[in-house]
Amino acid sequence: MDYQKIIDDLHLKYKSKTIKGEVASYIPELKKIDSNKFGINLYTLSDENFGAGDYQEKISIQSISKVFALTLALKHVGESIWKRMGVEPSGDPFNSLVQLEFEKGIPRNPFINSGALVICDILISKLKNPKIELLKFVRKLVNTKDIFFNEKIVASEKEYGYTNAAHVNLMKSFGNIENDIDVVLDFYYHLCSIEMTCEELSKSFLIFANDGILPHSKERIISLSISKRINATMQLCGLYDEAGHFAFKVGLPGKSGVGGGIVAVHPDLYCISVWSPKLNKKGNSAIGFKVLESFTTITESSIF
Ligand code: GLU
Repeated sequence: MDYQKIIDDLHLKYKSKTIKGEVASYIPELKKIDSNKFGINLYTLSDENFGAGDYQEKISIQSISKVFALTLALKHVGESIWKRMGVEPSGDPFNSLVQLEFEKGIPRNPFINSGALVICDILISKLKNPKIELLKFVRKLVNTKDIFFNEKIVASEKEYGYTNAAHVNLMKSFGNIENDIDVVLDFYYHLCSIEMTCEELSKSFLIFANDGILPHSKERIISLSISKRINATMQLCGLYDEAGHFAFKVGLPGKSGVGGGIVAVHPDLYCISVWSPKLNKKGNSAIGFKVLESFTTITESSIF
């Protein structure tokens, strides 16, 4: 399969298409992004790497990082985390507070904001220095030292984080947050602010395509069972309230972020990342979704 040609063709095709969408505007720092940016990268398990457009530019990965946090929590704490959250799609926007009150402070899944905040609380209780451990973990997956938090994004998230603060407070009132609220929020905002390129993103997700083993070093990072759980959670909850549609059209586990990135995993074959900042009504990259749909159609690759 000529992956480079497929990716180049898709880049060319979608670069000139007018697809409706809006750059995330809930914080000023994200609003500044050039809406015409567009990159695609594919990393195979045989260590081949194909890219087009802005695939080597650092992007705000936002909610994609929730996958790294969940992975760390499962690795260090294990299955007991599921006592504090579920694994069901929420059917609501990622920052909705509605369900949380009905369901007594137990988030539907680890990829909506409330679930990720509980994961942050779990990691704060377990790890000595969660921010450093988090960066160390992501850097190891990519085999680079060049992955950092963007402190301007952290500050912007903090300044406008009223809804996230409401989530933590509500969960604390139900006894589902152990640590100080400001400490949990600070870690959560750092989690949201990680910057990576599409190339780094694809590479970092290869463990989920490879049963938990890092392809470049052959080191086992997580168990087969954790890898399975994470792919299942991505499939069900990885694309906000559009995960069903993504399974239907793309047919791969994936995770998106409001920075306009989407990563998808084909177990045993590859990971693919797309970045295009204009978001559709559900908060997913409008072009990213279309590119992934076209890619799995052209390559006839899907888990179904
Ligand atoms: N930083 C966002 C927030 O907490 C989450 C972004 C996302 O879903 O990508 O509101």
